[in-house]
Amino acid sequence: MTTQTQTPSPEDRARTRPAVTAGRPIYMDYAATCPVDPRVLDAMLPYFTEKFGNAASRTHSYGWVAEEAVEIGRERIAEVIGASPKEITFTSGATESNNLAIKGVAEYLADKGRHIVTCVTEHKAVLDPCKYLERKGYEVTYLPVAPDGRVDPQRVADAIRDDTILVSIMFANNETGVVHPVPEIGRICHERGVLFHTDATQAFGKIPIDVQEMNIDLLSMSAHKIYGPKGVGALYLRRRRPRVRVVPLIHGGGHERGNRSGTLPVPLIVGFGEAAKIAAESMEEESRRILELREHMRRRIESEIPEVVINGSIEHRLPGTLNVSFKYIEGESLIMGLRGVAVSSGSACTSASLEPSYVLRAMGLDDELAHSSLRMCIGRPTTREEVDAVVDMLAERVAKLREMSPLWEMVQEGIDLSTIEWTAH
Ligand SMILES: *Cc1c(COP(=O)(O)O)cnc(C)c1O
Repeated sequence: MTTQTQTPSPEDRARTRPAVTAGRPIYMDYAATCPVDPRVLDAMLPYFTEKFGNAASRTHSYGWVAEEAVEIGRERIAEVIGASPKEITFTSGATESNNLAIKGVAEYLADKGRHIVTCVTEHKAVLDPCKYLERKGYEVTYLPVAPDGRVDPQRVADAIRDDTILVSIMFANNETGVVHPVPEIGRICHERGVLFHTDATQAFGKIPIDVQEMNIDLLSMSAHKIYGPKGVGALYLRRRRPRVRVVPLIHGGGHERGNRSGTLPVPLIVGFGEAAKIAAESMEEESRRILELREHMRRRIESEIPEVVINGSIEHRLPGTLNVSFKYIEGESLIMGLRGVAVSSGSACTSASLEPSYVLRAMGLDDELAHSSLRMCIGRPTTREEVDAVVDMLAERVAKLREMSPLWEMVQEGIDLSTIEWTAH
């Protein structure tokens, strides 16, 4: 897929890491967002100033320069997933891409059928459009996941009916990093003649994706999860066998082949393209390095902190993501005590409420265990020193919190907590 490997130098990495040097918390939340890679920023800057043209201006060189930059960006993004540039539609991000894919297909194929298959652990940007469609008279099947967080392809096959128009299953989960059996699901959808959409926001640029081999018909991406700018994303729409059509969400000047009107954000697209190129070129080397760090972190956590649970399949997982439950501790209080680390908890993902993560609950974790989880993500700028510092802080905080926990005391005394009858007061 790529011809040369271009590894970010230690200087590149250091420049992407302002957070640590300034005494701010160590950033371990790369699944939420990433800093812009300095090489990406450099590529973007001229398009804010001297190359400011509108890519839709056909009558002068300002427009041509902008259009050429957009088309280079489009090519680079297409190349990462084995698509052709004409199959890429730019959007404002993966939330919009998912909305366009799901609502756009649903409306276009309304006369063919009104049944959609998805999964309970999808991102809200998939679940909420599905809920919206249910209110409009569509039927949605939400498939469960196994305890390892994966959907069973056989369940997808069983859920497809004559009126099914779309299957939407994410590539990799944002909370756990678990990777679904996408090639198997793609094959089933292809055989049954049902369109297959995947929200690949977490996987794009991090693990190999090939829309041909994997029979993917629509695929959502976002720049800011791969060290590009926030506010730009893309949707892959297959053009041949079959040709995928969507009803647009936004009508206007007919940009993006009518799929998404609006003046293209040229600097953001240039940044997205550069980020995609860097991700593809460094994927092999970077995923190896990040996986090594993650496994180092996992081994240290498992050997130095008692009573932890790693959530989700270890084998089928993004290199950088780890989701860990620390029994008898509340994730929120752990995060409060970890001022030196920026991570997210299994409760914080769903708005501001302290509902335990629906993703972890769907994997069979009880409320308690779901509440005690943290998501830690290793990224391009992460060093071994940072990983070690985070584990040190974790071990210390967990021990402190457990010292103060009556539950932990009972566990130490050998009392089986499940036999206790709690009284409400
Ligand atoms: C971040 C994320 C989104 C939302 O992407 P935006 O570009 O921020 O709208 C959707 N799906 C998944 C899996 C994500 O991780």
